[in-house]
Amino acid sequence: HGLHMHLAAPISAATSFIVFSMDPFSSSPWLDGKVAIVTGGASGIGEAAARLFASSGATVVIADIQDALGEAVAASAPGCTYMRCDVTDESQVEATVAAVVAAHGRLDVMLSNAGVLLPTGSVMDMDLSELDRVMAVNFRGAAACVKHAARAMVTAGGGAIVCTASVASLQGGFGPASYTASKHALLGLVRAAAGELGRHGVRVNCVSPSGVATPMSCTLMGVGPEELEAMTVPHNVLRGKVLRAEDVAEAALFLASDQGAFISGHNLVVDGATTAVNPDVLHSIGL
Ligand code: NAD
Repeated sequence: HGLHMHLAAPISAATSFIVFSMDPFSSSPWLDGKVAIVTGGASGIGEAAARLFASSGATVVIADIQDALGEAVAASAPGCTYMRCDVTDESQVEATVAAVVAAHGRLDVMLSNAGVLLPTGSVMDMDLSELDRVMAVNFRGAAACVKHAARAMVTAGGGAIVCTASVASLQGGFGPASYTASKHALLGLVRAAAGELGRHGVRVNCVSPSGVATPMSCTLMGVGPEELEAMTVPHNVLRGKVLRAEDVAEAALFLASDQGAFISGHNLVVDGATTAVNPDVLHSIGL
């Protein structure tokens, strides 16, 4: 409507100033006035998202189990506060959503991002108790977040849920079987929830990064962030580029904001074409 008014308005400095301030393409913060929870927001991708959401106008509650880190992020990011919440315990997820609604009036955005990657070994000797732990956080924990966020959002008439999945939600070979299975399951949950919640104005999407140097991936590989990034660069389809937590946060911001108003049930890969291209074939045909 701002654009329409701009075209229809007579050209005068005063009018164009007023029209400009109503322009939907102006730099008004994407999450202005919204209330968001970011699980796993004490570190890595969640931390980057919490900072970006807050700087985009949202009131952000970081929900994590690393209290000292979570408090430190909140203290250094205006608009963020920290709450302890272990997503494997449904009652804590329910209590966190209730506390956020009580404190801030509603919940507009849930970024269900908490996740773990445990080395569960070859499928032939997979540690099934470790498999349970991975599923408990990555899938069951996310399910609790989707459930309780959806309840609050349906009551309020709308909202946006974004789950951090992974390229491992789409293909094998990116991580252990347990991790891959948990992310495939998460994508199924997101699609099912998008179908059911659409009539209530609640959008549900995934953001699916390829490798990012965070404590999770660095611990798995036993290297520091610079070393891990240097290891991934030669394999990237986008030559010379490195995926950063901030890039994933930008994609999550888009899905969480009204800019993504008609996007639901989507799995937004942030992988520089990794899952779109078969690099072996690309190389073998000399491209
Ligand atoms: P990270 O370890 O830096 O952050 C994960 C956060 O989740 C940590 O702060 C951790 O304390 C929190 N967490 C773990 N278990 C929790 C629980 N039970 N309750 C609440 N919080 C819990 O790792 P990251 O790389 O930022 O991972 C964030 C998400 O991104 C995960 O879902 C992960 O699977 C996904 N992902 C990561 C990569 C990557 O390469 N780093 C790639 C694709 C997807």
